[in-house]
Amino acid sequence: MIHEFNLRIQPHEAADSDLLKSCVCRMKGLDEDKVTGVRLLKRSVDARQRTVMLQVQVRVFENEPPQQLQPHIVRYEDVSTAPPVIVVGAGPAGLFAALKLIELHRRPIILERGKSVRERKRDLAQAVREQRVNEESNYCFGEGGAGAFSDGKLYTRSRKRGNVGHILELFHQFGASENILLDAHPHIGTDKLPGIIANIRQQILDCGGEVHFETRMTDILTDKGEVTAVRCHTGEVFRGPVILATGHSARDVYELMARRHLPLEAKGFAMGVRLEHPQQLIDQLMYHNPQGRGPFLPVAEYSFVQQVAGRGVYSFCMCPGGLVVPAGNENGALVVNGMSPSNRGSKWANSGMVVEIRPEDLPLYSDYVKRVMRESGLESADNDSLGFLQMLQLQRALEIDSFRHAGQGLKAPAQRMVDFVRGKASADLPKSSYIPGLLASDLHEWMPREIRRRLQEGFRLFDNSIKGFLTNEAQLIACETRTSSPLRITRDPEHLHLEGIKGLYPCGEGAGYAGGIVSSAIDGELCAERCAQET
Ligand SMILES: Cc1cc2nc3c(=O)[nH]c(=O)nc-3n(C[C@H](O)[C@H](O)[C@H](O)COP(=O)(O)OP(=O)(O)OC[C@H]3O[C@@H](n4cnc5c(N)ncnc54)[C@H](O)[C@@H]3O)c2cc1C
Repeated sequence: MIHEFNLRIQPHEAADSDLLKSCVCRMKGLDEDKVTGVRLLKRSVDARQRTVMLQVQVRVFENEPPQQLQPHIVRYEDVSTAPPVIVVGAGPAGLFAALKLIELHRRPIILERGKSVRERKRDLAQAVREQRVNEESNYCFGEGGAGAFSDGKLYTRSRKRGNVGHILELFHQFGASENILLDAHPHIGTDKLPGIIANIRQQILDCGGEVHFETRMTDILTDKGEVTAVRCHTGEVFRGPVILATGHSARDVYELMARRHLPLEAKGFAMGVRLEHPQQLIDQLMYHNPQGRGPFLPVAEYSFVQQVAGRGVYSFCMCPGGLVVPAGNENGALVVNGMSPSNRGSKWANSGMVVEIRPEDLPLYSDYVKRVMRESGLESADNDSLGFLQMLQLQRALEIDSFRHAGQGLKAPAQRMVDFVRGKASADLPKSSYIPGLLASDLHEWMPREIRRRLQEGFRLFDNSIKGFLTNEAQLIACETRTSSPLRITRDPEHLHLEGIKGLYPCGEGAGYAGGIVSSAIDGELCAERCAQET
């Protein structure tokens, strides 16, 4: 007989299979001699009370041989003679769109402006050494997209569209550990992602698909009101219906669309800073234990959200045991982000701390943007009546301003957390995981008022719920701007092609319909399905 139970158990009871079995039998009144095996199906940490517990779902085999978990495996067939679909961008949206196209017997031709994930790794190391990013091969651009050297957290709040479990099974099929199928907050880690991405590429090639690296789409070609092809910087034209999965850092793609009068609209997004604490402190605070997490608990995470003066202030993409990295794609501008290896073994915890910005907030930021652009000798897009290029420009202005306040290269401006809240300069800075280096800077003086005041108040409120979170052992590193896209490429809600124009399917984070790896992958699959049905 097979039983399934949801149980609350102590962390050490889940760490050892014999102990887990005894514990389940004791709690459920089963005879241990008759139980042949116990499989963990789900686990999550519940740290709300003083005693931290695990919430687990288990499958128990009684009087019959225990079975292994059997995740669904997708078999991919040869599509070398099938009709082509052009997929622009090899991030999670583009790669999962390509896999779905193969399932639907279409031949994906992937065009990717950056390099293979392996070569990209070298460029990232070189960028830190030379304090200069390669603008076509960085944390945003290249095989795997922004997802390749990301943290690889695979949880998403969006459960509406598509099947999260199916995407996790695919990640597992291509090399991720089985743990991602069990954990409530699955995590792959930046060290494991490149191998998985290379496996996905190999599958696409084995089935007869194509992958063209260092091939940047520069134009979208239409015929009788329908998109029929794209042109690349090499001059080569690729014909077929197009899945546009270019991510939210490809500002040139938005500019191209604006020039071509293709439908775009401004949308809300969020900007702020990355906050870095010692991980040991976060473990102590979140697990209510001065000794930290002990041997059986994972490194602790947190998540905060508050409303301040009518806008959300929240933590974003928290990376326990992680590193802060320079995640921009433009020299003379600075963006930071966070990631962690699979063992989450660093001494630091970081997260984005960001403030919601809505299109109607633009006038409040316009003096700031104009000043930064003027002082940097750049033009401002203030004659753009639709506001969408201004949203991009606001994002870019904060990135340029962060660069200007750190002085050079990839160095980032930083300030201790309490000093920022109190409006006081930091005389020095704590140690940090950010390898290119930090420079003490008065973020409370130069960040746009609408952001800094909300962050200051937000931090006080976060400290009310977790006493000790607001501390000068933590520091803010500027700036975090690439939380989601500030624009949406408008698409037909039912057919998912461009609003009013067939043949082009904008998808993933850059199209404004997803945020994060899993939701971008789900959106990629959805667009591939529509494209295969309708073209
Ligand atoms: C450091 C870091 C950590 C992150 N951590 C997480 C995390 O833990 N969990 C999570 O869910 N999300 C995380 N993210 C965000 C996540 O990576 C993105 O949400 C996701 O990658 C978006 O997928 P996408 O396919 O829509 O776009 P992208 O991943 O941005 O991919 C777009 C691709 O298109 C290519 N491209 C752009 N323009 C062109 C062109 N003109 N021609 C050809 N190719 C083009 C780009 O080179 C890129 O490869 C992180 C991001 C970063 C940078």
